[in-house]
Amino acid sequence: MSNPSVTILGLGIMGSGMAQRLLQANFPLAVYNRNRDKYRAFSGAFLASSPQEAAARSQIILSMVSDNGASRDVWLGENGALSGASKGSLLIECSTLTVDWVQELATKANAQGCEFIDAPVTGTKPHAASGELLFLVGGTADALAMARPVFSVLGRDSIHLGPIGSGALMKLINNFVCGVQAASFAEAVSLIKAGGLDLTKATAILTGGAPASGIVKRIADRIAANDFEPNFALRWMAKDLAYAVETAAARQLSLRTAGAALSVFQQAIAEGHGDEDFSAVTKSAA
Ligand code: NAP
Repeated sequence: MSNPSVTILGLGIMGSGMAQRLLQANFPLAVYNRNRDKYRAFSGAFLASSPQEAAARSQIILSMVSDNGASRDVWLGENGALSGASKGSLLIECSTLTVDWVQELATKANAQGCEFIDAPVTGTKPHAASGELLFLVGGTADALAMARPVFSVLGRDSIHLGPIGSGALMKLINNFVCGVQAASFAEAVSLIKAGGLDLTKATAILTGGAPASGIVKRIADRIAANDFEPNFALRWMAKDLAYAVETAAARQLSLRTAGAALSVFQQAIAEGHGDEDFSAVTKSAA
């Protein structure tokens, strides 16, 4: 069977790696990015002048943009993708967004005769580039089946979590736990420094003992290398914590640790670290 035609909306850190994977696997690919400078690396793809133009050529339309506002713009804005999508096409929202927004978008997509799944991912820049993402999926089993040829190239697995919004909810829970660990490690670094301990020795104790986690180890490696080039921008971790707090509040739950972590990330953004890797939260003063 031939590969389905695919659109990728958003050629940021994640979307660009995913688009390159699809090109390498010979998928007919259309791409759209707001800033056209990013088209330079995609000569093998159709370079669309609008999300609508890209979507009109594709059976599967996948969005990987920053936040709810960006997602609304690419799907529903002027010359948005939904206005170009054919009946029976599959729309996949892979960005990390709120449950309410993906449910609203799914309703609009279904009303137009399109299939829709929310499928945010775990994994970061290298996993997007090497096809090792994990897709967290909400929607019907039939719609997920349509996505499989694409997911098999982009990911190591996909997990069907339930109806529309289930993937979005799981992703926010995942990043809330990551964000809290990152914020607590950042405060630990502040206390290590303020207390006059040796940072290398203290970090080795934390990463070699009970507090070690994938996130704590990843941040410790960044500190050791003094490398804060973004794989996952700090401002998007703050966004995810804010979305988790909002999503829980709508269910009469207060995520107090997420709220505290969010304030640590907001301070880091105020100090100018928003575009650095999220591990730069450790540079922020406690
Ligand atoms: P990124 O590098 O900052 O890219 C963001 C993308 O969104 C860019 O293509 C940007 O276009 C586009 N965009 C922003 N506002 C827009 C608007 N109003 N209209 C149209 N396009 C807009 O972010 P990323 O790291 O790839 O992350 C993308 C999504 O994946 C986010 O939801 C993030 O939370 C999630 N995620 C990221 C990672 C990671 O490790 N990086 C991992 C899992 C999930 P321009 O180039 O024109 O600005």
